[in-house]
Amino acid sequence: MTAIWSVDTEAFYQNAVNVRNEQPIMAVVKNNAYHYGLEFAVKQFLKAGINTFSTTSLKEAVRVREIAPHATIFLMNAVYDFDTVREYQIHMTLPSLVYYYEYKEDLKGIHVHLEFENLLHRSGFKNLDELHEVLEDHTQNDNSEKMIISGLWTHFGYADEFDVPEYGIEREAWLNVLNTLLEEGYTFEMIHAQNSASYYREGQQVLPYHTHARVGIALYGSRPYRKLDTSRIQQSLTVKGNVIQTREVNAGDYCGYSFAFEATKDHTRLAVVDVGYGDGILKSRARHEAMINGKRYPIRALMMSHMFVEVDDEVHAQDEVVLYNNDIRIDEFTFKGVGANSEQLSAMNHDSLIKEYI
Ligand SMILES: *Cc1c(COP(=O)(O)O)cnc(C)c1O
Repeated sequence: MTAIWSVDTEAFYQNAVNVRNEQPIMAVVKNNAYHYGLEFAVKQFLKAGINTFSTTSLKEAVRVREIAPHATIFLMNAVYDFDTVREYQIHMTLPSLVYYYEYKEDLKGIHVHLEFENLLHRSGFKNLDELHEVLEDHTQNDNSEKMIISGLWTHFGYADEFDVPEYGIEREAWLNVLNTLLEEGYTFEMIHAQNSASYYREGQQVLPYHTHARVGIALYGSRPYRKLDTSRIQQSLTVKGNVIQTREVNAGDYCGYSFAFEATKDHTRLAVVDVGYGDGILKSRARHEAMINGKRYPIRALMMSHMFVEVDDEVHAQDEVVLYNNDIRIDEFTFKGVGANSEQLSAMNHDSLIKEYI
């Protein structure tokens, strides 16, 4: 018996179709497609009618090009390996004036998307003045070989926050920049801003004048915020282990390393399960429950390759122990404070778990 990480291919595909909602989607496939597997995810998204992809690493962008020769691929981080970007026809962010002035010769023939910084302050042009400066410098540059301005974009850092006004502020700042440039007559082949949270907050629609929503986590089956009904997004991933044996302990017995759990009743039944933090189960996740035969039981201690789950007489050796599936979802634990959806997904150890696409 070995713990298993498995993805239901049909459910993954169907979720992508539902998330897409016949809107133009740029699928974010960074970090090995949120750990679902880059090749698997790109192929399913293509099948679901998505042919624009975005990632943060050039290595992944090149792999996407190999999997999807006709796709549009957008690299969200600026890189310095200009020949590779050109060779694989990858669109890339233009992250600042400093970068532009330093590399404008190197960028010849590369499709760039001007990035507006906004509240996250991770990258991008600070304001309209900076955007105007690059647009004007570019227009005046009569070098026949220069970069190609193909897009305008921003990233909302607060779209999943509801108790603070920041999303409204960053949304308005961006729409002001966008509308001003459009009114001035600038045109952009691609305009994109919305992550999953923003896309759903706007009614699962792309904002006016935008050519794409740049969606990640929803395509992988997790809700970006709590208020969204679970039926809107379906999780195709299952992570499960097995009961190796059950044991009884008595009041006052300490179980697990460092006194992890102290039994308070005699005849406390513990299931020893063959999955642990070495497989990628976060310590914060182990403060909650696991599901055995459709019923939830509390996890009592987490070790590298094992955990203890406190069970009743209905649980036996060889029963399956589900840590995650569509009934006990990643996003449930996100909203219980375990860690971001992507953090729980990224922690999974694909070398120790059996990895299956069914
Ligand atoms: C990760 C990322 C996204 C996708 O965000 P989700 O919340 O997963 O939809 C979009 N844009 C940028 C810049 C990102 O880094």
